[in-house]
Amino acid sequence: MELLKERIRKDGVMKPGHVLKVDNFLNHQMDIGLFNEIGKEFKRRFADVKVDKILTIEASGIGIAAIVAQYFECPVVFAKKSQSINLDGTMLSTQIESFTHKRKYEVIVASRFLSPGENILVIDDFLANGCAAMGLVHLIEAAHANLAGIGIVIEKGFQQGGVLLREKGYRVESLAIVEEMDPETQTITFRE
Ligand code: 5GP
Repeated sequence: MELLKERIRKDGVMKPGHVLKVDNFLNHQMDIGLFNEIGKEFKRRFADVKVDKILTIEASGIGIAAIVAQYFECPVVFAKKSQSINLDGTMLSTQIESFTHKRKYEVIVASRFLSPGENILVIDDFLANGCAAMGLVHLIEAAHANLAGIGIVIEKGFQQGGVLLREKGYRVESLAIVEEMDPETQTITFRE
């Protein structure tokens, strides 16, 4: 998606440790015009897939998924990162290792929001080692629902997540795949 790549080139900041900061338009301040284009692009790429619901993970996935869902005309469920007293009923849970915070945490979703047989599209902002996406897939499996696909805004192609998920046979659509990035020179190369 050329518009997204241009925006990453313009506003993305490369940090040591393979971290790309896109706070200016994706992760903190949100460019809703761009989110709408992202929504249209995911809808185009998953046009042949039946999507009953979108599943994402708090916090950064929520804003993106909410806009994307308007194009699929379906609800959004987000997995929560900690046990909350406001949650009742049966919970599905899985462990995820955070790429950005380097620690493991539990994510949960109320089982009443993921039903057996539903077709679920996973949406997230970044794909690095694939832990977040795999965690969401585990929740879908635990609910006996179907994985419709995985839509990622920015995949870091030099990390293992994309290979891991595709090897498992999952359909992964990434709108921008970073091939290389250099924090020293602030240069970035995308996969064609
Ligand atoms: P993974 O679980 O694939 O290792 O990492 C994906 C998750 O970590 C995403 O949900 C995202 O929030 C975060 N993440 C991974 N790499 C980056 C990055 O380079 N920049 C930002 N802003 N978030 C990242």
